[in-house]
Amino acid sequence: MEQISKTETIALRKKLIGPSCQLFFRDDPLKIVRAKGQYMYDEQDTAYLDCINNVAHVGHCHPEVVNAGCNQMAVLNTNNRFLHDEIILCAQKIIDTMPDNLEVCFFVNSGSEANDLALRLAQIHTGNKDVITLEHAYHGHLTSLIDISHYKFNLPGGVGRKPHVHLASCPDSYRGRYRDNEYSLEEIGTLYAEEVKELCAFATSDGAGVSAYIAESLLSCGGQVIPPKNYFSQVYEHVRNAGGVCIADEVQVGFGRVGSHWWAFQDYDVKPDIVTMGKPMGNGHPVACVVTTRAIADSFFHTGVEYFNTYGGNPVSCAIANAVFNTIEKEHLREQASAVGKYLFERCQMLAKRHNYIGDVRGMGLFVGIDLVKDRETREANKECAQIVVQRMREEHILVSADGPECNVIKFKPPMVFTKDNVDTVINTLDQVLLEVRQRDRLEAKIKSRQNLVPSIIAEHASKAQRPVRAVYQDNVKSI
Ligand code: PMP
Repeated sequence: MEQISKTETIALRKKLIGPSCQLFFRDDPLKIVRAKGQYMYDEQDTAYLDCINNVAHVGHCHPEVVNAGCNQMAVLNTNNRFLHDEIILCAQKIIDTMPDNLEVCFFVNSGSEANDLALRLAQIHTGNKDVITLEHAYHGHLTSLIDISHYKFNLPGGVGRKPHVHLASCPDSYRGRYRDNEYSLEEIGTLYAEEVKELCAFATSDGAGVSAYIAESLLSCGGQVIPPKNYFSQVYEHVRNAGGVCIADEVQVGFGRVGSHWWAFQDYDVKPDIVTMGKPMGNGHPVACVVTTRAIADSFFHTGVEYFNTYGGNPVSCAIANAVFNTIEKEHLREQASAVGKYLFERCQMLAKRHNYIGDVRGMGLFVGIDLVKDRETREANKECAQIVVQRMREEHILVSADGPECNVIKFKPPMVFTKDNVDTVINTLDQVLLEVRQRDRLEAKIKSRQNLVPSIIAEHASKAQRPVRAVYQDNVKSI
């Protein structure tokens, strides 16, 4: 299946592909040639257990999804200016999973396109311009979204915060501004929501009015953060009182990943005004959607400006999305996400009893994060440990990644076909890796404490044996 050798692929990629398009494991990238279920295979047919691919939602190359795409492609693919069934069937499926206020769909090709359209709808409907977004958030790669993605605009080479963008703290109860060792979760939810209220007041008096508050329902780039239960309802009230609308970005966490519901916002018992979805929707095929209220869709319509998207909602994309929906239902993958996610969460918590590096375990369904720390008291992030874990797990053929503002949170968001056996493999390996880290840290600590002794030993030896100081020092280190 490999058409070009791995070495040549790397060389040609360097030459032909923009250098900003970065790879996982930059120093020694993986070349994946095929994938099935929760496994990816490299050019030597080595299998890797995939814990990070939330796009291959119902499993890589699921036959029902592949067949749906192939069959539709063999019959018809065209833009959606012609009537066809797949788009209607798909829209109906989506609407059936939504609260009653969300009744209208716009089909697009990516999560970024969905969020860009969501911002446009919000600005048109409210007549306002300003956007409230969260610290560490990522909402897409389009210019409009880099502007509201603190994760990107805040980088040293980033564009910085634009005046129409207001930044609220990430509602993180573990390492955020308000923490669970000082406040109750309820207080934390209210305190973070109060910040949004203040930003609303500021945008109303000093800005161009609040058009939208946008947030992921669970925050992935923020470090697998699960906001307090009362947070969104209070935020939505503040935003609506200020004349804005509320956008739930479900691009990463939607389509049943949380198990209990189709959409993560449903766990918070709120009704957004706009919901965006993407990634898992096509199981790897580019298809995404914006769902909104009749009133917002009508405001957009009354501008008189037609919305046309060449590929958005084409018959092939929609046939694929329908197959994804059907597979989730047929294979009970939401139930699986609940059961396996709970098992993963519990095993992570048990691991935390063995390893002080684990400061916090948080999650919902198959969206779980392990926050690695240097010290449980101070909660200081342990990025080094996270880097070793990601690298060593890869060597053991398990793919995990690290995220969060300090890159110390190990993320799990595997395909929903992930099993309890897979969890056992992951946790047993992680246990071993954390033991290695502990041994390494102990050795380093020993070396360091010996080094502190070294100056006096050096002086003693140097004067006794009159050997060069450096040699005495090296002897001491070696003998440990
Ligand atoms: N929103 C969120 C929360 C995302 O994680 C992403 C992609 N990582 C996007 C939007 C953008 O989606 P896409 O890459 O499909 O444009």
